[in-house]
Amino acid sequence: MKDRITRRSFVKKSGVVGSLTSMVTSMPTFGRTPDVKAASANPPEISASVFPWDLADEGLEKVLDNLEEMSGANSIYMCNLSQKTRPFRGGDYPHNPVRKSYTCEDCRVYWQPDMKYYGKIKPLRTEREFLAKTDWVKAFRKATAKRGMKTGVELFHAWIDPSRFAKELPDSIQINVFGKPVITHNYQNPAVCHNSPAFQEYAVGLYSDLAANYDLDYIQTCLIPYVLPTKYLTQNLPPDPIEWALVAAEKGGCFCGHCKAAAKKSGFDLEEARKELLILAKQDKQAILDSGILAEEYLKQNPVLKRWLDFRCASVNNLYRLTSTAAKSFKPDIDIRWNHYTRTHSYYSGVDLPSFMNHVDSIRANAFVEHQDKLKLVYDKVKYLENFEKVVGERVHWVAALDIRGKDPSILEKSAELSSYTGCDGYALSHYGGAPFENLKAVKRGLLKSKWAAYFK
Ligand SMILES: [Zn+2]
Repeated sequence: MKDRITRRSFVKKSGVVGSLTSMVTSMPTFGRTPDVKAASANPPEISASVFPWDLADEGLEKVLDNLEEMSGANSIYMCNLSQKTRPFRGGDYPHNPVRKSYTCEDCRVYWQPDMKYYGKIKPLRTEREFLAKTDWVKAFRKATAKRGMKTGVELFHAWIDPSRFAKELPDSIQINVFGKPVITHNYQNPAVCHNSPAFQEYAVGLYSDLAANYDLDYIQTCLIPYVLPTKYLTQNLPPDPIEWALVAAEKGGCFCGHCKAAAKKSGFDLEEARKELLILAKQDKQAILDSGILAEEYLKQNPVLKRWLDFRCASVNNLYRLTSTAAKSFKPDIDIRWNHYTRTHSYYSGVDLPSFMNHVDSIRANAFVEHQDKLKLVYDKVKYLENFEKVVGERVHWVAALDIRGKDPSILEKSAELSSYTGCDGYALSHYGGAPFENLKAVKRGLLKSKWAAYFK
């Protein structure tokens, strides 16, 4: 599958990317130098993320020029349905000529949605004057097509504004084992249930609309299925997920009516399971942690927990089966990409990679470390990416995320060099608006030392 996806979705476009050297792209499949022969029969995908206001403020063509020339990007995706203030970690935008930061409207789309694809829940379009007059996906797609760049849209962490839940989807809020609404770790909002038919209809609408109308190469998402404590999300993870296992049913969902109905279809009595999980949730967790038990053993001792976690993964698989099938019915070769936001233990947030990969074509492996300005973390990340390759490499095309918003370009340069040797098929640079130009140039310098060096100049 990996080779098929790589050839089908990417290589056919890469021969005309301006930043790749014409010498190398015109070479035979295996290059003339040992490095190229050994390392890079295919050029890498260097993707980068932009927000619509980056394009409005700096100019669409200018942003694409900068990403192509400075960082070697040959694939761009535009984020939709985002929330809160950017830059994400505070501070000022380094090169935006109009604003220092931007607080966006929650969960808005920046294209002109075709309402025939939607049911009860309709997407909300931006109402900000400087954005609302343009269909940004259309304009962006037109501009990237001229450059032969691979083009995608990302649907962010929450696909529907949580403030709409109470009014429009009161029965679709995720419920935890105590019967209380789940609150997301990142924005402290309620989360939507993936088994809600109205939400599923909306999700299918988003994928159908984009696939049918915009000639996109990929639709990427970082929808967060089930909540977990923030400290586990990105880095410095404990080696064993026992803490996750202990809190999954109270920090995350879901035990709502839609989930009970979906569980029943698969022969799982969710209400009975909830009663057992409630007893587990009320235990003295510190005593369990102090006992030194590992998660695997804890799940063996409590099969109801394993059964429930499996059910959650099956629910997420089902959602992606629905959206992927819908998108491909309109554009069979569209690449459904998962933004794998947890570094490890994703099973505990509803993503069981081995089965989940049946419903996606490619993955963006998120492992941000470059912004922490510690070289050791880059070496740790390389090990993580090597392991990631062992899990997904044979099955899907995957790119390693690089955080381009840090203060030390030399760390980023090193990561852009070393990560290439891990088996990944390229990088995902995030996010353009918050990245100093020096960092974009550092990515290019790293690429020139990477196993893909022959493709860049
Ligand atoms: Zn539910």
